[in-house]
Amino acid sequence: MVIMPNAKDTQLLDKLNRPIKDLRISLTDRCQFRCSYCLPAEHVDVMRQHSQPEKHLSFTQIIQTVKAFAALGVNKIRLTGGEPLLRKNLSTLIQDIKAIDGIEEVALTTNAGLLNPVLNEMIEAGLDRITVSIDAIEPTLFSQITGTKVNVSDILDSIDQCLASPLKQVKVNCVIQKGINDHQIIPMLDHFRGSGVIVRFIEFMDVGNINGWQPQQVFESKQILKLIADQWPFSPKSAIHIGEVADRFEFEDGMGEFGLISSISEPFCHDCNRARLSTDGQIYTCLFASQGHDIKSMINQPKELQQTISQIWQQREDQYSAQRRKTPKNNLPKIEMFVIGG
Ligand code: SAM
Ligand code: SF4
Ligand code: SF4
Repeated sequence: MVIMPNAKDTQLLDKLNRPIKDLRISLTDRCQFRCSYCLPAEHVDVMRQHSQPEKHLSFTQIIQTVKAFAALGVNKIRLTGGEPLLRKNLSTLIQDIKAIDGIEEVALTTNAGLLNPVLNEMIEAGLDRITVSIDAIEPTLFSQITGTKVNVSDILDSIDQCLASPLKQVKVNCVIQKGINDHQIIPMLDHFRGSGVIVRFIEFMDVGNINGWQPQQVFESKQILKLIADQWPFSPKSAIHIGEVADRFEFEDGMGEFGLISSISEPFCHDCNRARLSTDGQIYTCLFASQGHDIKSMINQPKELQQTISQIWQQREDQYSAQRRKTPKNNLPKIEMFVIGG
């Protein structure tokens, strides 16, 4: 029998005793960038075939779903995609999510190509944190990796605008691919050290199928640490929250911190407390899932919705990254990163 916990007195736990805390909402499966490791230009037809904007959840449906998650213990929402800023009137959505009982924080992950005109209204609506993805500071390489005509200088200007705003935190995500942008690690830190931005270097992951991931393309976190140690002394910082994905390090000269997300070399499945909602109303319990759970049809029935989410979470036993090396490769197609969100 599946038990319906009440978030106020019981924590909803999955089969590995992990609570549900964090919901990542993919607002669209479309993107105007063509990052080589996520949505390579030669595979853009995959996005076009997948994307059916008429089936995307409306803001009202998203709010109803967040209410159900919040009642079960979720307190943190991240808006992602695809590129979330392709959805209009995000500030309305942010304001309505912030008003939901139990939601403490709303964050956004974006490529920042469309950020400048809407940043202030999103902050006024209650946006707490922002993460901007930028994989190279060198202009030509930035263009090659992202396949966009937007200049890296415009993205850097938008990050400066975030820093000058009342946002609680500004982070930069930088996916490192061996031989492609590992030489950008030091220039990236050189640029952001002392600014207040926390740069997080992410190991290139085998999400989805179209990026053609190979293990030899991974530049492991220990190699990143060695490069940085040759330049600046730093010490490890302890995690603030259970379920934090990044290992944190602090520069000893007081110039801030950086993080490493090591899904390949040091998986963190043991305390993964994240659920994901796709833009067409599927719940995914792992970034590497092949299938989601369709909840769209019950969004208007709050009790049934909450009960279904509760059952999905209680039956969860995902630990793909922890088992990556032990499990023989299965050939099931995995959900693409631009569909499920980071
Ligand atoms: N478009 C937005 C952006 O780029 O920030 C949000 C969606 S994007 C899928 C979320 C994050 O996933 C980005 O920081 C991106 O760099 C990261 N990402 C995408 N594919 C990845 C991969 N194969 N391995 C590691 N990180 C990846
Ligand atoms: Fe778009 Fe983000 Fe994927 Fe790049 S990483 S293609 S910006 S969704
Ligand atoms: Fe969580 Fe799945 Fe990533 Fe493990 S592999 S940390 S379960 S999303």
